[in-house]
Amino acid sequence: MTTLTQLPEILLMGPGPSCVYDEVYEALSRPTLGHLDPLFLEIMDEIRSQLSQVFQAGSDTLTMPLSGTGSSGMEAAFANMIEPGDTVLILVNGVFGVRMVDVAGRLGAEVDAIEFEWGTPVLSEPVQTKLKAKRYKLVGMVHAETSTGVANPVEPIARILDTLPDRPLLLLDCVTSLGGMPVKLDEWGVDIAYSGTQKCLSCPPGLAPFALSKRAVDQLMARKTKVPNWYLDVTMLVKYWEAGGGGGRVYHHTAPINMLYGLHTALRVILEEGLEAGFARHSAAHDQLVQGLEDLDLELLVDPEYRLLMLNAVKVPVGIDEAAVRRVLRQHHHIEIGAGLGPLAGKVWRIGLMGHTARAANVKRVLEALRLSLD
Ligand SMILES: *Cc1c(COP(=O)(O)O)cnc(C)c1O
Repeated sequence: MTTLTQLPEILLMGPGPSCVYDEVYEALSRPTLGHLDPLFLEIMDEIRSQLSQVFQAGSDTLTMPLSGTGSSGMEAAFANMIEPGDTVLILVNGVFGVRMVDVAGRLGAEVDAIEFEWGTPVLSEPVQTKLKAKRYKLVGMVHAETSTGVANPVEPIARILDTLPDRPLLLLDCVTSLGGMPVKLDEWGVDIAYSGTQKCLSCPPGLAPFALSKRAVDQLMARKTKVPNWYLDVTMLVKYWEAGGGGGRVYHHTAPINMLYGLHTALRVILEEGLEAGFARHSAAHDQLVQGLEDLDLELLVDPEYRLLMLNAVKVPVGIDEAAVRRVLRQHHHIEIGAGLGPLAGKVWRIGLMGHTARAANVKRVLEALRLSLD
C-alpha cells in the first residue's frame, strides 16, 4: 500500500495540475457542511461573485462552478447550447479544438472546422470568409491552447462576429488562461466560457468555472429540446445556485462542498494579489524561463507574439531522448514537466508556469535541473 502521508512534494511544471496554494490545502480540510446549510449558501454566492470578477464578466452574466474537471465545462458548454442540426464552427489549432469538434458532433450539431497548423495561432481572414459564406449558431475557440503553447487572439474573432447581422454565439475555452492572463468576457463579447480549477487557479482538479451571457441564457431557456445531459443541465443547476422567487434552492446533486471551499479560497488569494499583478507575475516568470532556455540553447516552438505565458512548448534537441529527460527531472529533481501531444509527441516538452507555480524560484529550479539532465 502506498502511504499517502509519505508522498513527495513534486514541483508541478507541466500542463496541469499546477502547484496548489497552501491556503487551498488548508481550506479543503475544513469541516464539511450540508449542501443547503445557510453558511454554505453564502459561500456559493461569494464564489459566483468571485468568478464574475476573474472572468471580467458583465453583471447580467450567469456564473457558477460545475462539478467536474475542465472537460465537464466543455461538455456543458455544448450540451446546453446545441440542439441537433445546429450549425457550429470550430477554430482548431491543437488538441482542445479537436475535442470541441468531437463534443459538438456527438450532440448532433452540423460541425465545420477551420484548421490552423499546430504551434500557430487562429487567423481572422479564413474565419471571416467562412462566416460570410454560411450562417452559424455558434463559433467555438480555445483561448490558451495548452497542447501547443499558443495564445489565440480572441478579440479580432469577436469583432468579426459583431459585423454579422445575426451574431453567432461565441464560445471560449478559458481552462488554461483564466487567472493567468486577461480574460474579458464582457469587453470581448464572449457568450459561453468555461475553465478548470487545476491550471492557473491553482486548486486541485475537480471543478469547472462556467459562464453564460444573458443572450446565451435566453437561448438556453428557449430550447426546443431538453438539455441531453442531465448532470450538467444548467437550466436545473441554476435552481440550486440561485435563490428562486421564494428564496428557495432546489437540490440537484450534492455539491462537492470541500472542493468549493478550495475554489473560494483560491479565488480569494488571486483577487487579493490583484488580477493585473498576477498576470505580471506570470509574464515575469515566462520571460525568465525564455531567457534561461536560450542560455541552454533550447528553442521555443511558438513565435514570440503568440506565446502563452503559462505554457511553454520547448523543442527537444536532435539526439535527445525526451522521455528520459522527463524521467530524470521527476526522479532526481522532483519536477514534473509535460510531453508533447498528437503531432508534437516526442518533439516538444511542455513547461507550465501556471498560477502558484509561476514564481522565480521555481523557474530557476527547472532551468538548473534541465541543465544537469541535458549534460
Ligand atoms: C486542461 C484543459 C482542458 C481539460 O481540462 P481537464 O481538467 O483536464 O478536464 C480543456 N481545455 C484546455 C485548453 C485545457 O488546457
